[in-house]
Amino acid sequence: MRKLKTFFIRTYGCQMNELDSEIMVGALEKRGLERIREEEDADLLLFNTCSIRDLAERKVMGKIGKLGRSPNKRSIIGVTGCMANAKKESIFRKLPHVDFILGTNNISDLDAVLDEVLETGKQTLKTDMRFEENLNYFDAVRDDPIKAYISIIRGCDKYCTYCVVPYTRGKEDSRSPDDIIAECQQLAAKGYKEVTLLGQNVNSYGKDKPAWKELFHDLLYRIDKIEGIERVRFMTSHPCDITIELMQAIRDLPSLCEFVHFPIQAGSSRILRKMNRRYTLEQYLEKVDLLRQIVPNASLGTDIIVGFPTETEEEFQMTYDIFKQIRYSVAFLFSYSARKGTPAYRWKDDVPEEVKNERLHRLMDLHLQISSEEMQQMLGQTVEILVEKRTKSAQLKGRTRCWKKVVISGGEELIGTLQWIKISGYNHQTLLGEIVSNPALKTIGF
Ligand code: SF4
Repeated sequence: MRKLKTFFIRTYGCQMNELDSEIMVGALEKRGLERIREEEDADLLLFNTCSIRDLAERKVMGKIGKLGRSPNKRSIIGVTGCMANAKKESIFRKLPHVDFILGTNNISDLDAVLDEVLETGKQTLKTDMRFEENLNYFDAVRDDPIKAYISIIRGCDKYCTYCVVPYTRGKEDSRSPDDIIAECQQLAAKGYKEVTLLGQNVNSYGKDKPAWKELFHDLLYRIDKIEGIERVRFMTSHPCDITIELMQAIRDLPSLCEFVHFPIQAGSSRILRKMNRRYTLEQYLEKVDLLRQIVPNASLGTDIIVGFPTETEEEFQMTYDIFKQIRYSVAFLFSYSARKGTPAYRWKDDVPEEVKNERLHRLMDLHLQISSEEMQQMLGQTVEILVEKRTKSAQLKGRTRCWKKVVISGGEELIGTLQWIKISGYNHQTLLGEIVSNPALKTIGF
């Protein structure tokens, strides 16, 4: 049997994919393979793919397609991630030099699939719809020594009409709370300061396992007690599942950051209904109001799709006006692209590309304007940052509790510490500041 010595992995897409890659790196290193950064020299090439947009898929298909034409030595090639579940055998038809395909729910099969490919030389495919809770999260190999992603729930039951996730990652499946706590404790013991709890819809946590009697906010109260974990973040949320108990937890738990990803997707109730988002604009705004009453300093993030089928100019304007009203600090803005296998794929994609682009750019400009107004407002304020790493320009980079990037000067010993910083300037999307040793006036909420 051929012996593999080295591997190269490239990750596309979301934080969940990044975490899955960290778990696969752990499994491969345990098998004795060495990770290398130059793909030409690797015995095994892994592409952990994303299916959320057409462009993401085309990029990775093009990249792997080129490898098939390369005259260089033949590496084993594996395709993992959402594209594996979405395209299955069709990947072999388009890219016959791919050796194996492993779905999002099968990454624990990596070892066995590699053995099979090496022994038989045959193409192998595993793409289960159901997630099996036998992943070894504890051996994940993380590049970042300060912040870690922790998977708490996989899959999604919401079935938004434009989204492939329920078809690529399957139904919601919460991870055992004791297992999550044990992983957080292990990370704290290694010196990690921040954890981000991950799931397609973290707010649904525990609903699929009623016998546990443990919902998302219960989990947060347990994690807050872990010594050494200074900050807890979470993503992504569905507005319907953001509860009053969660809002109270954000208000009450010192570790839980006051940043909430609250994805609206569109500002018109008609479009929201067509998207199957399960809330009207009014219901969404009521929840935002409630959050702002309970946590007045909360910062909000959003995802928005412009140019959804049948979206009129007036309906786009409603999205624009809501953005202006809520003043989101963080926004992921996209123009609609039809995804095969979703209900919306069968509808006419009737908003012309140039109209979609124009709407997207208008929204991006508004987002930039709001960001720079926020930065202006922060001048002279004193905020807490977690110092994360050194930048290419030899400064130190950190983030505020509300996800603002701050750059300061200082020594290596500051990495991994919380510091109070007086904001002295800003540059594009980055704040500039200086350490304040005894801040008289601290500002929470940035
Ligand atoms: S809630 Fe999010 S992950 Fe689930 S179907 Fe809707 S957009 Fe997709």
